Amino acid sequence: MRVIVLGAGLLGVSSAYYLQQLGHEVTVIDRQAAPGAETSFANGGQVSVSHAEPWANPSAPLKVLQWLGQEDAPLLFRMRADLHQWLWCLSFLRNCTPARTRHNIRQIVNLGTFSRAALQQLRRDTGIQYEQRTQGILHFYTSAKEFDAALAPAEQMRQLGCERRVIDADEAVRIEPALAHIRPRLAGATYTAEDESGDANLFARELATLCMQAGVHFRLGEHITALRTAGGAIDHVELTNAEGRFERVRADAYVLALGSFSPLLARPLGLKLPIYPAKGYSVTIPVKDARLAHEVSLTDDEFKLVFSRYTSAQGDRLRIAGTAELNGYGRELNATRCQAIVRRVEQLFPGAGHTEQAQFWTGLRPATPSNVPLIGRTHLPNLFLNTGHGTLGWTHSCGSGKALADIVSGRVPEVDFAFTGMAAAQPGPHLQAA
Ligand SMILES: Cc1cc2nc3c(=O)[nH]c(=O)nc-3n(C[C@H](O)[C@H](O)[C@H](O)COP(=O)(O)OP(=O)(O)OC[C@H]3O[C@@H](n4cnc5c(N)ncnc54)[C@H](O)[C@@H]3O)c2cc1C
Repeated sequence: MRVIVLGAGLLGVSSAYYLQQLGHEVTVIDRQAAPGAETSFANGGQVSVSHAEPWANPSAPLKVLQWLGQEDAPLLFRMRADLHQWLWCLSFLRNCTPARTRHNIRQIVNLGTFSRAALQQLRRDTGIQYEQRTQGILHFYTSAKEFDAALAPAEQMRQLGCERRVIDADEAVRIEPALAHIRPRLAGATYTAEDESGDANLFARELATLCMQAGVHFRLGEHITALRTAGGAIDHVELTNAEGRFERVRADAYVLALGSFSPLLARPLGLKLPIYPAKGYSVTIPVKDARLAHEVSLTDDEFKLVFSRYTSAQGDRLRIAGTAELNGYGRELNATRCQAIVRRVEQLFPGAGHTEQAQFWTGLRPATPSNVPLIGRTHLPNLFLNTGHGTLGWTHSCGSGKALADIVSGRVPEVDFAFTGMAAAQPGPHLQAA
């Protein structure tokens, strides 16, 4: 079958890889000059099945209210005259009940465990290298209240097969000696030995190269303007090609993997995707003193930041990423939010990095209110979704791509997950809120 994948981010590239593996003739279209150039460019670098607690959880409404108007808040809603933002927020609130939270954690962990195994298999099959580290992920807590609140979700994750072990401050420092500096302030930690980290952008580019070598055609620098239907199915894609000319491109099946921009192209088709851009920040800092810098990938729960370390010919760097701002599609840097991250790095690991050389970046996470991505069928028989991966797009990329390729091929995916398969009048379980 001829399949067009719309979008060459982590989700588009992984879809293309697994579709090609199943024998399809695949074309990937993206407006950027290289794969992974938008949200998949400089993320936190974690493959973190253990990061499965959704933003929408029972403690979120109060926290969000407390953070309203606070410029450096980890999760900041800036309310706009935007119906889509309001509907998204309503749906977010509906996902904060204990029952919805448990349901969403189950989806996120199931997909995460499947996806991490698929990534490890991919590494064995292809030898792909992306500055990966397999030393696990350590979540640390500097607030006793937050640590206590994390115990029940961690227990649920363990029951679902994610070995997120609760440990004390001493063990946390044994696993990551660079935390010694804040040992007196550590309330506790959890450690997931199977989780990993690496450079997600390098991964996307290397995987795209493997796809090209296997025959996948990449049309880069081409701007998709519309999807057109005929006879109740997608008939063609309209785009402005690399020469600036209008063009129609046809295939047998189409995969929508345009990240935060997916709902904009889906809406004219009568498909309301509950995705809203959640702007996140990352900071990349050259290491000054390697002995003071962390080796293990970390999650700082209080500040909602993740930390990864990259050591390669490009130099020894720290990547710190996180925070979320719901404020439309703007990607401008807010100096207060940038400086809050740098201050936290200096507090935790003083002297570790050349913070004066910090490089800042923002990206728009394609966030669903539940944190559960949209993967599967739509009411149009030849249009498929692989989008809405929010905070965990890399963690979920291989599993989502593999499952999606099965669905497109008429096979049943190997993972227990609430795939979309909605009819126009009857949306799937986590699309109802749209
Ligand atoms: C600060 C931050 C930290 C993060 N940290 C992590 C982490 O540690 N671990 C993790 O698992 N995830 C993390 N994420 C999430 C992860 O990066 C995203 O979920 C993932 O990159 C989304 O990939 P995507 O392919 O869906 O979207 P994108 O990477 O945005 O890809 C969509 C593609 O569609 C193209 N496109 C859009 N519209 C058009 C159009 N009209 N025509 C042509 N092309 C178009 C774009 O050019 C883009 O290449 C983080 C995100 C952020 C912002």
